[in-house]
Amino acid sequence: MILGIIADDFTGATDVASMLVRAGMRTVQVIGIPEGPAPDADAVVVALKTRTIPAADAVAESLAALGWLQNAGMQQCYFKYCSTFDSTPAGNIGPVTEALLDALGAPFTIACPAFPENGRTIFRGHLFVGDELLSDSGMRHHPLTPMTDANLVRVLQSQSRRSVGLIRYDTIAQGVAAVRDRIAALQRDGFALAIADATTNDDLRTLAAACADLPLLTAGSGLALGLPALYADRGWLVPDAQAAALDPAPGRAAVLAGSCSTATNAQVQRWRDAGRPAFAVDPRALARGEAVAEAALTFARTQGDEPVLVYATASAADLQSVQAELGAMQAGALVEACLARVARGLVDGGVRRLVVAGGETSGAVVQALGVAQLRIGAAICPGVPWTQAEGVATGSPLQLALKSGNFGGPDFFDEALRASTAA
Ligand code: ADP
Repeated sequence: MILGIIADDFTGATDVASMLVRAGMRTVQVIGIPEGPAPDADAVVVALKTRTIPAADAVAESLAALGWLQNAGMQQCYFKYCSTFDSTPAGNIGPVTEALLDALGAPFTIACPAFPENGRTIFRGHLFVGDELLSDSGMRHHPLTPMTDANLVRVLQSQSRRSVGLIRYDTIAQGVAAVRDRIAALQRDGFALAIADATTNDDLRTLAAACADLPLLTAGSGLALGLPALYADRGWLVPDAQAAALDPAPGRAAVLAGSCSTATNAQVQRWRDAGRPAFAVDPRALARGEAVAEAALTFARTQGDEPVLVYATASAADLQSVQAELGAMQAGALVEACLARVARGLVDGGVRRLVVAGGETSGAVVQALGVAQLRIGAAICPGVPWTQAEGVATGSPLQLALKSGNFGGPDFFDEALRASTAA
């Protein structure tokens, strides 16, 4: 194993794995920390669900994942978080990064959530989502991790004991040597962490090359795109053109949406506008103890082979009102548990291709299905590959597309289903 990645949610894990597979790195995503030995792969992504849990628990789980990756012989470690730097106000990115630095005996690392292909860029330490500052984007309404400050130096500093500096775009434009000089200067000045600007994939490649010798990288998925070429240059990696090949997956398909992100709202709307079969999950009915999952499964059965959408996706206003009534965490947990039950029921009923929208939602679904690991296939859109579940006794291949809420265009659900039929 060359690269060991610790991802703080499940869609984030598939996102970064997709980046590596695209560059010919054989990559396996494991769900949680495996009991047994590491799979045979160039990179292994340990998918945790630590983004929104208490910081102390996130640290403990991340350190356990690190220990397992170290035992498996990892050469470099990568802590993967969301391209919108999602964290609770108590903040897990800082505490986990610092714990990993301590455990690795490393004095310095960078933090760079940029993913330019998906419109996430960082300029002078400020994160943009498309043309908007993070704090003006839909992320300010996120159900669990509302992001109200686009200044990432400030956000990371508020979560960290060590000092946080900045590697600015004009340094990155000067190339690898200038970035290395900047990192040395930051360390001399007492900084152990630095937000790195990046507005293009070339910036990310420069950064990756400048940080090639750091024991720990922390980033969104974008930084990973520069790594396989570096490993190949060192003679560690022979890129594999078949790295993204999956088995054909005949069987029915379905879509589950538990994200309230802007992109998922548009995708659900597009599906409903087209008159496709859709079942809405009402969190208030869940709180009243109604059998919502069973009703969704009954609805799905009446649609025959037609793919159904089961969604909890709501507008910012509806979400706010439900959260005020039920509590944000409580409402989220009810919805996640419901969608996880629906996923289990759909797969028991013969569904073999499942599109899931939402990071936390994907985590709940994958856990409910008992998936042990995922082989990573070709990308449907930047950041979202089809994956093949391993360790589930379904008799025929089970494939999952785990989509971070804000990824994909309005037709994503259909694009995913078409791509899977072609597989
Ligand atoms: P994203 O990838 O957009 O962040 P997630 O699945 O990670 O999506 O997070 C969305 C959270 O919001 C989940 O915990 C989900 O259960 C919750 N949620 C979804 N729909 C609703 C709703 N209508 N009311 C309250 N919470 C909801």
